[in-house]
Amino acid sequence: MLDVGRHPNINLLAYSEVENVRGQAGDFNVTVRKKARFVEENKCTGCGLCSEKCPIIVSDAFNEGLGTRRAVYAYFAQGIPSTRTIDPDHCRQLNGKKCGICAKVCQAEAINFDQKDQILELEVGAVILAGGYDVFDPSLIPEYRYREIPNVVTAMEFERLLSASGPTGGHTDRPSDLTMKAGIEPLEKKVKKSLRGLEKFEKQYDRTSKEFYTRYTSGDIEKDDDQNKWANQYEEHLSLLKALDALKEKVETFGPAKRLAFIQCVGSRDFRFYPFCSGYCCMHSIKEAIIANEHEPETASTIFGMDIRAVGKGFEEYKIRGGNNSGITYVRGRVAEITEGPGHNPIVTYEDTRERMVKSKDFDMVILATACAPTKGIADLSKILGIALDDYGFVKTDPLSPVDTTMPGIFVCGCAGSPMDVPESVAQASSAAERAAEIAFQSDVEKETAIA
Ligand SMILES: Cc1cc2nc3c(=O)[nH]c(=O)nc-3n(C[C@H](O)[C@H](O)[C@H](O)COP(=O)(O)OP(=O)(O)OC[C@H]3O[C@@H](n4cnc5c(N)ncnc54)[C@H](O)[C@@H]3O)c2cc1C
Repeated sequence: MLDVGRHPNINLLAYSEVENVRGQAGDFNVTVRKKARFVEENKCTGCGLCSEKCPIIVSDAFNEGLGTRRAVYAYFAQGIPSTRTIDPDHCRQLNGKKCGICAKVCQAEAINFDQKDQILELEVGAVILAGGYDVFDPSLIPEYRYREIPNVVTAMEFERLLSASGPTGGHTDRPSDLTMKAGIEPLEKKVKKSLRGLEKFEKQYDRTSKEFYTRYTSGDIEKDDDQNKWANQYEEHLSLLKALDALKEKVETFGPAKRLAFIQCVGSRDFRFYPFCSGYCCMHSIKEAIIANEHEPETASTIFGMDIRAVGKGFEEYKIRGGNNSGITYVRGRVAEITEGPGHNPIVTYEDTRERMVKSKDFDMVILATACAPTKGIADLSKILGIALDDYGFVKTDPLSPVDTTMPGIFVCGCAGSPMDVPESVAQASSAAERAAEIAFQSDVEKETAIA
């Protein structure tokens, strides 16, 4: 990625969208909208002070909503260019309210609230589409109760939990526990506020609320409106403190999720959705189970699948190593249902096809290996590019030329064409670059011949 940012022959247009493509192989005109970041890329040093001071906190899409970010943010830590972007939907200043804190703290003077989208026209010989994939939405399978049971997550969400730069710093904290932990801060704020209310009375009557309340309840003092109000506020304060202590005590008992279930083929190899195999999910489940065990050696994982497709050099050995050294058990069977047990533990009901029995087992967390689905924007983009899609919505290609689309001069690589892992996507990217270079070279020769 860094190499791409620095390469003299690569002009990186991040935070941009293709709006129109005209022409033919060797001679395309591409209209690109470079969206306003409201931060000048050439001035921003990426120090992050603006994000630290921004008062607006919103859900972080990159962390699958498991963490938060500010209204001025970097989409992810290693992004190129390492500049910040202001989110126009949430920024106070851009929505007509008084703020501008980011502009005040930015020593590089990079914040520019007046920045506008730019329309760029590019003359190119060939186009390569590398728009990737979306993960299948598992809430379409109601029996798995994704979003209903908090500790049922997708593999992508679990990937963020495992990441050192993710919302939990790499700890496999359960979402239900995270929600409870998040309840502490607002409760602490309420306690502080109620303390401030009590302090007013304490100053006025020169005694602590506790002393006052003991005398008040024993009938030692006359009960006027003020005294009744003080007593009510003190009682409210005590109940807030009790709730806070109980929550803190509960949270202290939380630990990492150690009993994990991975469910394969969620939406893939399923005739209701995508009948084909997504290719990479068996390996990413094994990888995630191994990493979880490296973080927390007591972690035991069960991978439920019709079969484990470990296809590739060294993949089968990796699978076996996971079983021998990383606490993984492979169960051949389809999961029928997930329900919620005590302590927000998901209970998995499945058919063990080896033992020919229906069984149930409870876990700390369930991870759904969701199918590789076409991106939501691909239908519009395919119209702009004039290329056809296949029956499932991936870019249509010729089996004998897997990076060629139906439009000469426009190529595809990676999961935009069909599900594949990173090494295969990288290999296809090289192949597509080679095909594009052939066209660009050919059109240069034609132009030179025409001039001659
Ligand atoms: C949970 C999980 C774990 C995985 N782990 C592994 C692993 O360990 N090893 C492995 O080999 N594979 C793994 N994979 C598979 C891997 O993610 C894919 O093989 C790989 O991401 C495919 O690369 P790609 O470039 O085709 O697509 P992507 O990685 O999806 O990249 C596409 C890019 O295009 C951008 N884009 C989309 N539309 C537009 C548009 N209209 N304009 C501009 N930009 C656009 C997207 O924002 C994205 O940045 C995993 C997959 C999942 C779901």
